[in-house]
Amino acid sequence: MPSIPTDSLPPLAQPMPRAMDPMDFEATNPLPPVDERDRMRYERPSSIEPIELPPAPSRPPATLPAIGAVSTEAAPPAVDVPPELLRKRRILLTVFTAVYGFAAIGAFVWGVSWPALLGCALLAYGGMLAHEVVLHRLLAHRAFRTGRATRFLMTAFAMAWPARSPIWWAATHRHHHKHADDPQDVHSPRHGALRALIGWPFEPRALAFPYREVGDLTRLPEMRLLDRMVMLPFALSLALATLAGWAFGQMFPASGMTAMQGLVWWGLWRALYPIVAMGLVNVVAHRPGFGERRYPTDDDTRNVRWLSWLTAGAGWHNNHHHYGHAARAGFRPGEFDPSWWLIGQLEKMGLVWDVRDVPPDVVEATDARA
Ligand SMILES: [Zn+2]
Repeated sequence: MPSIPTDSLPPLAQPMPRAMDPMDFEATNPLPPVDERDRMRYERPSSIEPIELPPAPSRPPATLPAIGAVSTEAAPPAVDVPPELLRKRRILLTVFTAVYGFAAIGAFVWGVSWPALLGCALLAYGGMLAHEVVLHRLLAHRAFRTGRATRFLMTAFAMAWPARSPIWWAATHRHHHKHADDPQDVHSPRHGALRALIGWPFEPRALAFPYREVGDLTRLPEMRLLDRMVMLPFALSLALATLAGWAFGQMFPASGMTAMQGLVWWGLWRALYPIVAMGLVNVVAHRPGFGERRYPTDDDTRNVRWLSWLTAGAGWHNNHHHYGHAARAGFRPGEFDPSWWLIGQLEKMGLVWDVRDVPPDVVEATDARA
């Protein structure tokens, strides 16, 4: 570890008792000052944020909209949306539709081969691991520590599977833990399953999401750089995928692999997987009828075994909402959590340290089945 630049973050807060909100980042990590040049960008008041939302409803399971519903009366109230946000949303939706329209047409035009499909599956799951380890457990939850250079490289790598900016992702995610399944939660399936699956990032409230709770990230110039160059790692990964497809086809002509198959399958389709899988966590792991609710958390979260396989461990969602400090989501033996395994490997290599585990009493104490 000595050769790795030391992280300058303040010391990790001690795990707090359950009576306090474990995700209260403003209490555990007071916001550091942001330099004046970035203040407007990162701390500007949003014209959407101050809107008074109604108190959380009693939330009986029966009020959940059917899967497939776009929105219901449970949706947050309409807000006055500034024109620049509507423009931003139009641009985002147009680009997203155009890129994946191209990927759909490209799958027919340039076809598919076994290496294209196998590579797509491996890269998709690799991206899932990157999102879960880097965006979720490192940036959003600070469940382990690493050097600044390592964090920069890990974050840039995870951005090859884009989910908007990593700072934005962490901001919306910390808010999700504070407001899980209440009317302010932009991720909750209580506001419509399709919205929870894929629609929420395009909502005006999500587009204008303030960076208030991520001062630990916005004060780092290298993280602000990544925030501004949000699509650069993805663009580079597309170029690399195309080149790799071409090189593979040259080496193994009988495989049928081509440069354009590389772009479509190794570049575009694999990149969609972590976004959709994380969306599935929103839909399935917050929905009565799926999985098991081991801990009586103040939300709808559940542990869904099959989902943990698809999401590199994120399916142990009730565990995670019970104790979000930890770098693990599978709390018990047999609870498949490859992200926890990967973090352990990175720790053995000396790339990460101060990995936070779940105290045994936290695992056992509030077991609703006991
Ligand atoms: Zn989380």
